[in-house]
Amino acid sequence: MDKIPTTDFHMHSSFSGDSQAPMEDMILSAIQKGLTHICFTEHIDKDFPTDHHVDFSVDTPAYLEAYTALSQKYQDRIHIYFGIELGLQPYLSGFYRDYIRQHPFDYCIGSSHLVDGMDPYYKDFFEGRDEAAAYERYFVTILENLDAFSEMDSYGHLDYIVRYGPNQNRDYSYERYADILDEILKKLIDKGIALECNTSGFRYGLGHPNPCEEILIRYRHLGGELLTLGSDGHSPEHVAFAYDKIGGLLRSCGFTHYTIFEKRTPRSLPLPA
Ligand SMILES: [Zn+2]
Ligand SMILES: [Zn+2]
Repeated sequence: MDKIPTTDFHMHSSFSGDSQAPMEDMILSAIQKGLTHICFTEHIDKDFPTDHHVDFSVDTPAYLEAYTALSQKYQDRIHIYFGIELGLQPYLSGFYRDYIRQHPFDYCIGSSHLVDGMDPYYKDFFEGRDEAAAYERYFVTILENLDAFSEMDSYGHLDYIVRYGPNQNRDYSYERYADILDEILKKLIDKGIALECNTSGFRYGLGHPNPCEEILIRYRHLGGELLTLGSDGHSPEHVAFAYDKIGGLLRSCGFTHYTIFEKRTPRSLPLPA
């Protein structure tokens, strides 16, 4: 078997509103797949719209307690880190700044799940909207989030919205949104925020990670070095999803290393050859 990256720094358990997976099952799956370092990144999406009946708040003390017990239980077999995925909206910057300072996170992902308060995950988002205009608006809101808030370690699944468009990525390319994507990538580099390579795009049938290879290549050309990697798994079978191809893919995009975080500090690891 080809060597795979042995870290997964984006995964959810039942502490996230959209996962039923016991934390221990996620850990056992990671061990079984040969991973050496994983980070839980449970969802907190303050002010997520209530009409979908999903609660994206997180009981952080209970999450920390479970994390602490299990990370100690398995400490001889795998390194486990304490992370969070923040569902960003520009006006929430003060809330999230306070929140992440109050808890001992190793790693914070900032993600755009909402466009003007609506989640494109739900089909009604695209009703009456032009797909390209919706994608463009999604990218504009990433810039707005980055102008309001810089304290995340990595920006999650940069082109998340193409998972859910009526035509997904069939009409989508870096070129089509190059101006705004370049602005985003330059801003990440200037602020020292990592770009995440999220392998769940393969799970959603895109045939590519989020963001797509063209964006990863462009980030590298612009001087971007901090690249984090995760499956965005919500159940044990998703852990390290598509990792058999991701090492070679990232190397072909110009990367030799990727990054994990411990106590909010980046650490570089070589990509397997
Ligand atoms: Zn996300
Ligand atoms: Zn996630």
